[in-house]
Amino acid sequence: MSATYLLPCSCGKTTEVRPHQAGEMLSCPCGATLEVPTVLQMAHLEQVPMEPGSARPSTSWGLRQSMVLIGVLIALLGIGLTVGLFVTRPQLLDTDEVHDLVNAKSAVQSWLSYREDLRIFGPAWHSKKRDAALAEDVFRRNVWMGVTLTLTAGGIILATGATLQGRAARRGALSSDFEQ
Ligand SMILES: [Zn+2]
Repeated sequence: MSATYLLPCSCGKTTEVRPHQAGEMLSCPCGATLEVPTVLQMAHLEQVPMEPGSARPSTSWGLRQSMVLIGVLIALLGIGLTVGLFVTRPQLLDTDEVHDLVNAKSAVQSWLSYREDLRIFGPAWHSKKRDAALAEDVFRRNVWMGVTLTLTAGGIILATGATLQGRAARRGALSSDFEQ
């Protein structure tokens, strides 16, 4: 957003000019032809004060607004993934339940059921392998939940940061307008 300057005429009226008009010929309402000065010379002219809430803040507001939106979307994605991982997590065996089941059997029954399990399911390392796979799945989920929670936090920080920055920039634009 470039500044607007007031090009004076000998009649006393002024015409608004912008830097990109440098060198152009304009006509004053009085009929006189005015040559727009160079950009350097233009800087010595009287400047039109920018009004708060005019084009200047709106150009950067679009970017900040989209940053807030992106931040919110990232946060929502992170929350969704975290909830998804949590809801579909494998249910670990309730150890108390298992213990009760084992304690309800006598030593001989336990031995017999162990022999039976061994006959049906094969050597004990099968269940160890399954437990390890389960533990690995739980571990992987915890890692991924850490990633998705970080994603959520990142989205919230981005949205909050862009919101606060937008407010600060608008305050800054207002105060600089008052200084002019
Ligand atoms: Zn004139």
